Order: sequence, then C-alpha cells, then structure tokens
Amino acid sequence: MAEINNFIKTIMEQDLASGKVDAIATRFPPEPNAYLHIGHARAIITNFELAKAFNGTTNLRFDDTNPAKEDQEFVDGIIADLKWLGYVPTNVFYGSDYFEKTYEKAILLIKKGLAYVDDLSQEEMSKMRGSLTTPGIDSPCRNRSVEENLRLFEEMRAGKYKDGEKTLRAKIDMAHPNMNMRDPAMYRIMHISHHRQGNKWCIFPMYDFAHPLQDSFEGITHSLCSLEYDNHRILYDWFIEKCEMEHVPHQYEFGRLNITNTIMSKRYLKQLVDAKKVSGYDDPRMPTLVGLRRRGYTADAIRNFILSTGLSRVNSTVDASQLDEALREDQKLKAMRPNAILNPLKVVITNYPEGQIEYLDCPNNAENEEMGTRKIAFGRVCYIEQDDFIETKPNKHWKRLAKDVEVRFMHAYFVKCNEVIKDENGNIVEIHCTYDKETKSGSGFNSRKPNGNIHFVEASTAIPATFRLFEPLMLDETEENKDLDFMERLNPNSLKELKGFVEESLANTSVGEHYQFVRNGYYTTDKDSKPNALVFNRTCELKSSFKLEK
Ligand code: ATP
Ligand code: MG
Repeated sequence: MAEINNFIKTIMEQDLASGKVDAIATRFPPEPNAYLHIGHARAIITNFELAKAFNGTTNLRFDDTNPAKEDQEFVDGIIADLKWLGYVPTNVFYGSDYFEKTYEKAILLIKKGLAYVDDLSQEEMSKMRGSLTTPGIDSPCRNRSVEENLRLFEEMRAGKYKDGEKTLRAKIDMAHPNMNMRDPAMYRIMHISHHRQGNKWCIFPMYDFAHPLQDSFEGITHSLCSLEYDNHRILYDWFIEKCEMEHVPHQYEFGRLNITNTIMSKRYLKQLVDAKKVSGYDDPRMPTLVGLRRRGYTADAIRNFILSTGLSRVNSTVDASQLDEALREDQKLKAMRPNAILNPLKVVITNYPEGQIEYLDCPNNAENEEMGTRKIAFGRVCYIEQDDFIETKPNKHWKRLAKDVEVRFMHAYFVKCNEVIKDENGNIVEIHCTYDKETKSGSGFNSRKPNGNIHFVEASTAIPATFRLFEPLMLDETEENKDLDFMERLNPNSLKELKGFVEESLANTSVGEHYQFVRNGYYTTDKDSKPNALVFNRTCELKSSFKLEK
C-alpha cells in the first residue's frame, strides 16, 4: 500500500523534532447521525495512517452532543465500518461521557465573566449577530452578574426552562471580524432523551465548545478536520485558553473529498433513504461505506484510492473512475474469473450428443497461475452473450460469432454457426452450430484460426442469476439542471437488472465474494442471493469493455 505523505505529516515531523509534542495523538470524531460515506474515509485514513506513521494513537470519539439526530444504530454502523476498513482505535470514547467535565468548564467561564445566560430566542440572536460588514448588537442579558448567570445556568441544567428559552453564550466580542467569535452559543436546552445518557441531561454543549475540550481531555495533539472548520480555529483556541486546559491540542484543516456525480453529505443521504429513492444506506449506489462494500469495493481499494487522491488545504472533486481503477488494481490478481452470461443467446451444438456433457480445464485467473484451474462444462446447449453474435459479419473487425463464421469457445472448441432460428417477429431465438472435436483447447490444434474467442456457459449446469448494473445516482450537471434540487437530478437509470446465467462453480458463492466475470467486469455476490437464484452487483466494468475482442 502507498505510504501517507502530506502537509500534516510534515507538521507532525516538525512538532516531534522541536519537542512541541512527545508523541502523535489523533482522533476521528464522527457524529453518529448517519452511516459514514467515502468522504469520511478520507478523514479516517488520514487520522489513522498519520498516527501509525509515528507510532502514535488514534481514538474513535463519537461526537454525540446533539441527541436530536443520534442513534445507537449509527454508533454500531460506524464501529463496523472502521473495523472493515482495517483500523482499530486506541480507545473508543463518547463526547457525552465528558458532559460533567464540560459542564464544570462552563461554570469556570461563567465565574471568570466569560459566559452568560441569554434569554434571546435563536432568531433574535442570529438577527443581532450582524454581518460580515456590520458589527453585532449586544444582548440585553450580556451584563448579567456572575451570581445570576450561575443560578440561571444551574436552573437550565435542572430542567426549569423549556427548549430554546435560555442559552449559555461565551462572552467574547459582538464586533469581532470573525462571526464565530460574536458570543457563540455554548449550551442549549433540549428536553430529549440521549442515546447514552438517557434523561440525565437537558442541556447539551455545542460542538465548538465541546470539541476542543474533548480533544484536550484525551491528550489529542493534532486535531484534524475538514476545511469548513477553518474559521472556527480561533474559537477552538479561545476555549482551550480560557478554560485553562492543561493539555493544549491544535486544530489543522484539510480539504474535503468530493466525487463526481455523487452527493456526499449525510443530510442528503438520509433524505434519499427516507424518501425510499434507494433501498437503504447500504444500497450499492450509495457512497456510504456500507453501500460501497455491498457493491464490491474492497477496503484495500478504498484505502489506496484515498491515498492516491493526496491531501491538501483545498477541497477536491475526484472522478469516480479513479475508485474503479483502484478496485481493478486490487482485484486483478486476486479475483476468480468465472464465466457469466448477462444477456443469454441459446446455442445448440447440433453435432454434440444429446444428454451428454464434458468438463474442460480452465484457469481461475488467466493472469495469476498460482490460483490454479477448475473444470467448466461444455455440452449440446450453451449460452453466449447476445452481443457476441450478429447474423451477418459486418467487416473484418468483427471478431465474434456470425452465421458461417467460426470462433473459439474459450477453453473448449471451435464452434461454427450454421443456422439462425427466429420467431414470427424476426427476433433471433437461438442459433444452431457445430463444433470441431479436433480443436479442443490445449490439443495444440493450429491449422485454422478462429474469428475470435468468446466465453459461454453450458445450459444444463448453468445457475440462474440476476445481475445488477449501476450508473451514478446523480445525472451529470448541465446548464439546464444545475439549479435543480438534487432530488430532481437523480438518474432514473441508476439501477438496471439483467437475468442470465453463471457457471456452476459459483453454486456455493458467499455474500461479498469478488469475481471478475470474463470479458465483462468486476462483480460481487449480493446479500439477496439465494442458492438457485444468485444475485451479483457489478462493482465496475473492465477497462476495455467486453464488447472488444480480448
Ligand atoms: P456531512 O457534511 O457529510 O454531513 P459531517 O462533516 O457532518 O459530514 P461528521 O460526522 O461531523 O460528518 O464527520 C466526521 C469527520 O469526518 C469530521 O472531522 C469531518 O471533517 C470529516 N469529513 C466529513 N466529510 C468529509 C469529506 N467529504 N472529506 C473529508 N473529510 C470529511
Ligand atoms: Mg459535521
């Protein structure tokens, strides 16, 4: 695997060399309000790989300070996703476990005259915050005495007030050029049960207040986050300083990862799930880690992909094809390469005895001999891809089957088409062929050249299968649709199902197994698969489409 190398690594090296820190401690702080997406994978991999590079530590810390949207299902999902990506956190912590310590720090700020209880509503507060060009207006509650603030804040905790009735705010500067410094909220009232704390608390700290303290409690040295927190750093440092935190962590920001034709925000992903536009968070079209995994992307492919995109202080949009490339690279020498027919055309080999089949040797992976061989069946009735047949050979570039043309059935025999059978509408229903016994694969036969090599599946042993083919969830952005809501920009063709056959060696396939279907693409067995009704998800196509002669 590629080594991690970026500007944050350089900062860490310098901090270790100068003695600013003794060891590297990072954390990944997801909010358990949805499943993780591939953007989070950038944050996970960056945090874990950087710490690993210096023998440091990485905590998983659930940022569970907003009970309105959080749920145990997501906590479990995030733990499972990390494990699947191959990372073991040094500790698993919960922001909510620090509620008492965080509360004490709020009391300290009140006592220092640096926090006050405000009676303004949220709307009034945001109205009075001013703008980038105009200063804010002080709240009438700003000059409450320390004693009054202490009493009110304790009453807030005790449940005396309704949601939104009071707010604890930091007392900084209502004219500060950075809006985040204009007396930001520290605590709000929410009478709602917390997934870990139950009804113990009805006041909850805001992210900007809670996060730096949590980093400090845990001894985090480098608190990494995406670029949108850039102008919160000043507040982060303010809270660390004013709360007199013993350990001083530092925040560093990196660019967010976006992928073409993909929506990468938990809020939008949740909307897709809630509106049933997808089958769930693990729908193979979703950019969630559970979705990507079900689709067939491997943890190694995702890691290599993330590392290959680099890291800078600029948000980046990466083409989805880069992830496909990482998957192909990862699976090229690992995946079995069985035969599958997605759009079957029935072939009757008229000179092959009825009721008989034979087995031929076939490499499991033509590029990796070590994977050995298996037996594939050949018999009187076979299936080939409809795209591998055309009635009349159009030109010399057609290197597949046609009437009066002979091809090699891969790892079997030369097969020649003699007759095309059609229904009353003129559609081809089957073709009649003959095979040449002398041309058995491996026999050294070389006195004629076939018009190409095509794959096939013998019919009596074939297993019925559904193939799910995916396109991006979102249509390309165009002049016409660029202002549409993302729900209106959904690709109506993002899922297509084909019914075909796979060779019998896949009878005992298990969910999540990866394959390269010969001349087609990478596929993974889906959880909807049943013994005689297999279901495969296409992860991605081969680089050169199977329509080309290979
Ligand atoms: P979203 O914006 O998708 O709702 P979020 O940032 O609210 O995600 P968190 O649970 O707060 O989600 O994210 C945990 C960490 O992952 C944060 O440190 C955040 O900076 C980082 N992160 C989230 N999305 C991306 C992304 N697309 N690229 C890089 N890092 C990301
Ligand atoms: Mg967030």
